[in-house]
Amino acid sequence: MARYTGPVCKLCRRDGMKLFLKGERCYSDKCSYDRRPYPPGQHGQRRSKATEYGVRLREKQKLRRIYGMVEKQFASYFDKADQGKGVTGDLLIQTLERRLDNVVYRLGFARTRSEARQLVLHRHFLVNGKRVNIPSYLVNQGDVISIIESSRNKDVFAAATEFATRRETPAWVERDEHSGTVKMLPERDAVTLPIEEQLIVEFYSR
Ligand code: SF4
Repeated sequence: MARYTGPVCKLCRRDGMKLFLKGERCYSDKCSYDRRPYPPGQHGQRRSKATEYGVRLREKQKLRRIYGMVEKQFASYFDKADQGKGVTGDLLIQTLERRLDNVVYRLGFARTRSEARQLVLHRHFLVNGKRVNIPSYLVNQGDVISIIESSRNKDVFAAATEFATRRETPAWVERDEHSGTVKMLPERDAVTLPIEEQLIVEFYSR
């Protein structure tokens, strides 16, 4: 599946909020958004009034970029959530949270979702004892995600574990040293994202 490989700090500046796409740098005084909290480009500092469409578009872009997706993939998640039983916005966020790369990130085995995605692709994880290298794999309640034994001493996991002490592990997952369990599937209020998902629903319903 395609993914965005361009500069990511520009995305935070474009969306007007910190999307935390760069791990440690996001928490340091090198954060581009903290230094220049206005859109990139020659006219970034001009004031312009956002249209209703623009507000909805921004909200959709924020969520899409937080989870590191291209439009087509994100739209297909929305379609599935829209067809599911329940509140579309809640289902969308729950499904995105259930992705294996996100769970690896939430458990603190990676500093960013893109790092988590790469670690999954490089076959460093087992789900319930079986090797899974699909970042979009959806975990279920009770699943146990563990780092394969031969990878446990890798520097990347030591760095991620150290970094994880600065972040909060959500209550719906539980971490041990080299493994983590999905205690329950996350409800919307368990996911602390500053996103108004109703605007995303309105964006796709236009
Ligand atoms: Fe965004 Fe700042 Fe992190 Fe760059 S360093 S990705 S601007 S939060």
